[in-house]
Amino acid sequence: MKKYIPQEFEKKWIDYWLKEKTYQTPQSPDKKKKMYVLDMFPYPSGAGLHVGHPRGYTASDILARYYRMNGYAVLHPMGWDAFGLPAENAAIKAKKNPLDMVPRNIANFKRQMSMLGFSYDWERELATTDPEYYQWTQWLFIQFFKMGLLYKKNVPIHYCPVCKTGLAEEEVLSDGTHERCGNPITKKDLPQWIFRITAYADRLLEDLQGLNWPPGILEMQKNWIGKKTGITITYPVVAIGGAGGKETSDRIYRQLGTVSCFTTRPDTNFGATFIVLAPEHPFVASLLNSKLKNQKSKLEEIKKYVEQAKTKTEVERMLEGRKKTGVFTRLYALNQLNGKPMPVWISDFVLAQFGTGAVVGVPGHDLRDFEFASQFGIEVKRVVVGSDGDTSPISKKAQVQEEEGKMVNSDFLNGLDIHQATKKMMDYLEEKGWGKREVSYHIRDWIFSRQRYWGEPIPMIFCAECAKNQVKSQTTSENLKLEIENSLSGWFPVPEAELPVKLPYVKSYEPIETGESPLARINEFVETTCPNCGGKAKRETDTMPNWAGSCWYFLAFANPQILNSKFLTLNSNWLPVDWYIGGAEHAVLHLLYSRFWVKALNDLGLIKAKEPFIRLRNVGMILAEDNRKMSKSLGNVINPDEVVAEFGADSLRMYEMFMAPFSQEIAWSTKALQGVYRFLGRVWKIFQSQKSKVKSQKWEENKILVSKLNKTIEKVGRDILDFKFNTAIAAMMEFVNSWEAAIQLSIINFQLSNKNEQKDTGQSQLVLSADNAKKFLKILAPFAPFLAEEIWQTVLGEEKSIHRSSWPKIDREIMIKEDAAIPVQVNGKVRAVITVVATETSQENVVKKALQEERIQKYVEGKKYQVIYVKGKILNLVLS
Ligand SMILES: [Zn+2]
Ligand SMILES: [Zn+2]
Repeated sequence: MKKYIPQEFEKKWIDYWLKEKTYQTPQSPDKKKKMYVLDMFPYPSGAGLHVGHPRGYTASDILARYYRMNGYAVLHPMGWDAFGLPAENAAIKAKKNPLDMVPRNIANFKRQMSMLGFSYDWERELATTDPEYYQWTQWLFIQFFKMGLLYKKNVPIHYCPVCKTGLAEEEVLSDGTHERCGNPITKKDLPQWIFRITAYADRLLEDLQGLNWPPGILEMQKNWIGKKTGITITYPVVAIGGAGGKETSDRIYRQLGTVSCFTTRPDTNFGATFIVLAPEHPFVASLLNSKLKNQKSKLEEIKKYVEQAKTKTEVERMLEGRKKTGVFTRLYALNQLNGKPMPVWISDFVLAQFGTGAVVGVPGHDLRDFEFASQFGIEVKRVVVGSDGDTSPISKKAQVQEEEGKMVNSDFLNGLDIHQATKKMMDYLEEKGWGKREVSYHIRDWIFSRQRYWGEPIPMIFCAECAKNQVKSQTTSENLKLEIENSLSGWFPVPEAELPVKLPYVKSYEPIETGESPLARINEFVETTCPNCGGKAKRETDTMPNWAGSCWYFLAFANPQILNSKFLTLNSNWLPVDWYIGGAEHAVLHLLYSRFWVKALNDLGLIKAKEPFIRLRNVGMILAEDNRKMSKSLGNVINPDEVVAEFGADSLRMYEMFMAPFSQEIAWSTKALQGVYRFLGRVWKIFQSQKSKVKSQKWEENKILVSKLNKTIEKVGRDILDFKFNTAIAAMMEFVNSWEAAIQLSIINFQLSNKNEQKDTGQSQLVLSADNAKKFLKILAPFAPFLAEEIWQTVLGEEKSIHRSSWPKIDREIMIKEDAAIPVQVNGKVRAVITVVATETSQENVVKKALQEERIQKYVEGKKYQVIYVKGKILNLVLS
């Protein structure tokens, strides 16, 4: 018998499928029966696929194959997220241009994906770095600009000093490092193109409701958007003092300005005892500019503190927050509720970007405020009594009361619960004109400029002359603030006919220290003419972040014609994506940005979809055998090429689906992989053993096995849709066990009953009809496409690909009949449940079986009884 040697046939089928266009996308999908199954497309690194990639890709492949076999029009494309820092950094290291390197990486990725048998339609392949693709990324940028969604501003932004580029909030990890390179982030003032994602905050939040996504990802997006309803209270800032700036009790108030604080707990405002400003707060700047009178030495102290804060990252500031630092301004804010002056401090635990950059301190009812107040000896006041009933003054941390409770020491709020009090206080403050209800968000506008070479050039032109004359491009930006709009003077989009603005091929493209893109040094690129006045002008030299291309690639897959067209059409019956599969690490990056673009494109009328991805499933990470992350430096990387060379692609696929529940992190195990390999070898052997059997011989199909097969078909189908690939495989393994056992039993039976009178020509090994055997092969096909195709065509002699066959129909008849579980009652009480084969539910047989049960014997032995039997349902033995 031929052995299972996957290397002998896997390559053959790769070519066959390609030649036969087995996985070609149907032209126009029927709306009801379309299925768009998409992987998060990879960044094609020089290292090629690691074994983590195929885990997600195999899952999506199984899904795509399952839907195809069930008659769906399936779109299952693949492409390359090829712009961005990792590619560029790798190219710099190799002293090559990414334009040369990336295509080679792509070719290698594609080879590996084909090797693994993924059923992508390669005719729809695209890379974000193709000019035919990024011309539209640039075109979309221009449409968003015209919509008023983009502005240019000089702002302090996150900056990676190693990558030498500005970054978005979302690219800074919670430990303050750069998401791509792991180095600590600093701050830098740079002129930036900024996307008004905040204009979509409410819709991004509300539409989360309709998504079939992992709850964890939904929660992260919700928290990132961070919508809070509260009130902004404006406090007059005053100097208190007599002659010589000395503080005295005569309280001469001079109003110097105002400070606004956002709070969600205005109910506690009678307990407010101080104000803290972020070091970047404009009030601090005007203080330092001596517009406000203050002592010189004090100013020096403030200046020093502010400068120190600048050197820290946001995260450092948040973490250090447990040990508070700060400087007193010698100024006071007036709490108008009770006329009390509250000292105004500056501290770096308050961040300028969040809220108003100023915080009102209520130390009795906020732990962080309590720590600050304790540190600097500021008064603590109780205004809420909690469920513990403690009404004493708050002097210990444990007494700080942040929970539900009733108001005390709060004038007109006394006796109310905190929710009633919050509403009443908001009404009161608004009525007095001291506050305004507001909604605050955590999400910030999206910093979209990168000072790097390897990205889409931002298609904008700046004309100094037009800027001088305050001429600017027309945008439909009713909502843009005037100051932002003014910053757009002199900026014009590149005329659309001139797209793409191609990235020039250059020798030197290393990032530079000045905070400029390396493109700024290439005169031929920079110099252009003004689309408005025709005079000399300069191109924008910043490039887009690597998230740009991935914000809409799923739309391009659905509209492949656009790559060779002068028009962009994005609507398609394929949309939205039905299944999206990939890692969880892009929760508030790619997954948020692409939702934003889709909503904006919907507003532009370019697409009907309001959300890009209906269902999202996250793939768990694969660790090395030593339970650590795989890394070159640890030497524990498993290379899929080597695995396939040794065990074949089907084993790698099956193993990665079998290793653990799909979203669970799991360590690689070569031993477990071998187990899967042996399983496939057994399947191979069974089919080989059936091949040459004499067909004319009489033989009987094993009904129990057929029933089991139908149950397996049902379970595998259900498990695929539930992403329970591991249990689907377990069910198939169990079925093969039963199949083998049935064959063994059949051989023994044959020998016993024939006593060598009849020669066994192999008919004894036939326990399943050819049709049923094929059914099993079909449900295995999505998991092990090579083995299935080889058996299907070579062993069973089928002429069309198994991957074009249909998913087997379940025979429910036989499933119900088989293994009937029949309760056996004695005098109406269930004493046992016996399992009887479908064909053997006659009364005679069932009674016989029941009497073999010890639990029944016990009651009926030596006694007379009457039999009441409902066929296949229940047996009752009534003692007389
Ligand atoms: Zn970096
Ligand atoms: Zn001009």
